[in-house]
Amino acid sequence: MDFVTYLIRACQEPDKPTSMTNSSATSHFDQPPLLAVHDLRVALQTAHGHVDALRGVSFVMQRGDTLGLIGESGCGKSLTALALMGLLPERAQVTGSVQLNGTELTQLSEAVLCKMRGARMAMIFQEPMTALNPLHPIWKQIAEPLQLHQSMSLAAAKKRALELLERVQLPRAKERLDAYPHQLSGGQRQRVMISIALACQPDILIADEPTTALDVTVQKEVLSLIRQLVTEDGMGLLLISHDLGLMRDQVDRVMVMYGGTVVESAGTPDLFRTRAHPYTQGLFAARPQLGLKRGTRLQTIPGNVPEIFKWPQGCAFADRCSHAEASCRMAVPLPEQIHANRNADSSSMQTHEHWVSCLKWQQLETSA
Ligand code: SF4
Repeated sequence: MDFVTYLIRACQEPDKPTSMTNSSATSHFDQPPLLAVHDLRVALQTAHGHVDALRGVSFVMQRGDTLGLIGESGCGKSLTALALMGLLPERAQVTGSVQLNGTELTQLSEAVLCKMRGARMAMIFQEPMTALNPLHPIWKQIAEPLQLHQSMSLAAAKKRALELLERVQLPRAKERLDAYPHQLSGGQRQRVMISIALACQPDILIADEPTTALDVTVQKEVLSLIRQLVTEDGMGLLLISHDLGLMRDQVDRVMVMYGGTVVESAGTPDLFRTRAHPYTQGLFAARPQLGLKRGTRLQTIPGNVPEIFKWPQGCAFADRCSHAEASCRMAVPLPEQIHANRNADSSSMQTHEHWVSCLKWQQLETSA
């Protein structure tokens, strides 16, 4: 059975453990998944002609699911998020399916999508200073989606803005209601961004490198806050990061992206135990580690992520993979299931099968 068929059936059959969903899916089997993405593809018009920037992404999320997307810059993580939000450039061509609570988003007009953004799905961006409007006090920016999507009066929206700022634990929230973004620290600005994202209690929260611009000490605080709020509100969280350490702490499931597609996916504990794709192995090997002897060179993945119009035929990783053979360049490897694994936390009874798209994974699988 191929990967996409497996995902679809897993969402339909109550007793089937799902590869890309946790066991909570089985309690919702009579409802559509919260988010079902099927063979999502994006083609962009560039100076080099039409290029396939996203080349088939499929996954399913239920309420409470936390899913991480990792990979180097240029692998398609942010493009996936923008495609889900309907924020692609005007001339981008989208094929495949994105269903939120059973509603097909790729067929909606911009006007209808606009009503869903902020209300049913929200996004936290990397750099809050550029995402916030420097000309408006923070309470007005939190109040805006409430007025727009919930028709709240200005006074009620201001009151709610204060509640939200208190919920995201902004110190001295009441005093800071009239503050402008430049009067806050980076961590405080990101808390304001989280307030805006959560204002209308969306179903899906997408966080694209939400702590990259923050000090290390603040990063963990902000991520823990996001995770806590997601759990309390029963949202689905799609977290994008290149930081494997953050992924281990914050998400239940990880998808590794390269060349505009998912090359490996697994439950987080499973992936940290066993990697099957040479790209995932390279990412893990390149992690800085404590206790290395002075002068020890960190491992790196040879070469760079190619420009999207220079991806090789067949396996996109072939130019950088030391195991590449002629057959790797003939066709894009299809996802294969490695083994079903039960998380170490048996009380949660979560299962996440492990999938990989590599012709030689059986010879290359490595354990931590
Ligand atoms: S399919 Fe071939 S080139 Fe691609 S990752 Fe596997 S071994 Fe490397």
